[in-house]
Amino acid sequence: MIEVAPSIVKNMKSTIEKHTLKGMSFSNLQNWCVDQGESRFRGIQLFEWMYQHGINDPREMSNIRKSFRDYLITNCLFETLSIEQILSSALEPTQKFLFKTLDGLFIEAVSIIDGVRHTVCLSTQIGCNLKCDFCATGQMGFSRNLSSGEIVDQLIHVRKQTHQPITNIVFMGMGEPFLNYDNVMDAADIFHNQRGFDLASSRITISTAGILPKIEQFIHEKRKFKLAISLNAPDDVTRSKIMPVNNKWSIQELIHAGRAYSKMPRREVMFEYVLLKGFNDSEDDAMQLARLLKGIECKINIIPYNASGGIYKRPDEQTVNEFAKVLSGKRDTYRVLVRRSKGEDIEAACGQLATKSQENAHA
Ligand code: SF4
Repeated sequence: MIEVAPSIVKNMKSTIEKHTLKGMSFSNLQNWCVDQGESRFRGIQLFEWMYQHGINDPREMSNIRKSFRDYLITNCLFETLSIEQILSSALEPTQKFLFKTLDGLFIEAVSIIDGVRHTVCLSTQIGCNLKCDFCATGQMGFSRNLSSGEIVDQLIHVRKQTHQPITNIVFMGMGEPFLNYDNVMDAADIFHNQRGFDLASSRITISTAGILPKIEQFIHEKRKFKLAISLNAPDDVTRSKIMPVNNKWSIQELIHAGRAYSKMPRREVMFEYVLLKGFNDSEDDAMQLARLLKGIECKINIIPYNASGGIYKRPDEQTVNEFAKVLSGKRDTYRVLVRRSKGEDIEAACGQLATKSQENAHA
């Protein structure tokens, strides 16, 4: 069983047990205020202070009466993470943030600015136990799930530091979001809530390596977030070599679930395909992939691999372009995009996130 971080955590610097309000859902925060003898409206005010305004100090929450502000100061924790380091790419406006949790562990988030588009890539777990062979996070092992507050706090810190409105959120950082389902959904709801970050559902993408029961659960949600399925191979034998999770749920099952999602009103599905030199990048692979996705309204994201010190290499430009051309040439219901990751020089690109500080922390 995966351990879910509790809503009340012990502040490592103090012996007092405090309530962590950050990450509580809109309704739970209102209920919590009622339990403290306050009105539900007080919960709405707190929600707006924390997320719309990014305020962590109750002294600044000017429309809340003083006695309750004092109660909040004494009994509640508002910060779940501190910034340990910010690395800026020399090549483009991409920054990687290293955060420290209250229990002394480390996670990363990435801010990618491309014109008016500002995408933030968030982590959902500390490490990952799915062990995809090409991914640096997969080699770290697994420590624990992030709380919804720790997921939300990544975005609050990035927003404060970057000064350009955030337009898109992708749950594609460290960890498998669907193995931390409830906390990820709570965080995504806060990002979507008009009194929170007010981002449209279509601007929030949740990416999975293929946890089939959770994809099926997601299909039945009222939420309309985008679904991304990390495919990375056109057949089960090839996929199982790089993604052990494929031994549990096959490509056909994932495609079936992706198709079902794409048929739901106002839902979008995307298949991601990391292109590894000499492994999954041939013309035959492209044709097989085209056959697999035939007739599905979706986007295919081709991602040339970013080296992370393992055995895999990035294919050359010509191979990448030919792979995309074979797929596009089939003129099917899908759209093909080649996504060139940003921030490679600061190890912030897809598949490169792994906190070396963790090793130091455990040393
Ligand atoms: S690719 Fe995603 S699911 Fe696979 S090991 Fe890395 S973080 Fe985990």
